[in-house]
Amino acid sequence: MIYVSQAENPMDTSELEELLLKSRNWNSSKSLTGLLIYRYSSEGKSGHFIQMLEGDKSEVEFIYDKIRRDKRHHTVLVLGAGTIENRMFSEWAMGFKNINDETLSDLPGHARLGEETFNPAKFQQSNVEGLKLLKFFHSAS
Ligand code: FAD
Repeated sequence: MIYVSQAENPMDTSELEELLLKSRNWNSSKSLTGLLIYRYSSEGKSGHFIQMLEGDKSEVEFIYDKIRRDKRHHTVLVLGAGTIENRMFSEWAMGFKNINDETLSDLPGHARLGEETFNPAKFQQSNVEGLKLLKFFHSAS
């Protein structure tokens, strides 16, 4: 399952670390893997998430139901959900990347990934770009 969402308020490092610590503990215990990307846009002064969750269908659905109701973000939009042969992030209980406009412009081929890639409210074919970004981090891992 892959979704995008908007942070209720921009997240600082300690808030992201706390979120990751708890997520990784839970995900490890349930054999859930994946990648979470947090992107802060200085232009919009807002934060967005894109997350890929992999695992048994029932475990993915259970945790997604908690995630979608989490008050730390809103406008949670599922880009895709389905069955895959092999996990993309089998080594990661929850890989994480914290990126901003500058980091994004350094990524080869991703300089043009704008806010609309992550922003559910501005969503236009962004799933394609979001997936490209996930694949980029996957191949770089
Ligand atoms: P509790 O910990 O009891 O929290 C209940 C509610 O309180 C939460 O839904 C949230 O709205 C709020 N809350 C909790 N902690 C804080 C805090 N530090 N600051 C502000 N509000 C808070 N969990 C996983 O296990 N695996 C994941 O992969 C995962 N990915 C996530 C991705 C995102 C973008 C977000 C925002 C959350 C993610 N979570 C993940 C956390 C998940 O949403 C739940 O918080 C977690 O499963 C604990 O559930 P709980 O019912 O015990 O909630």
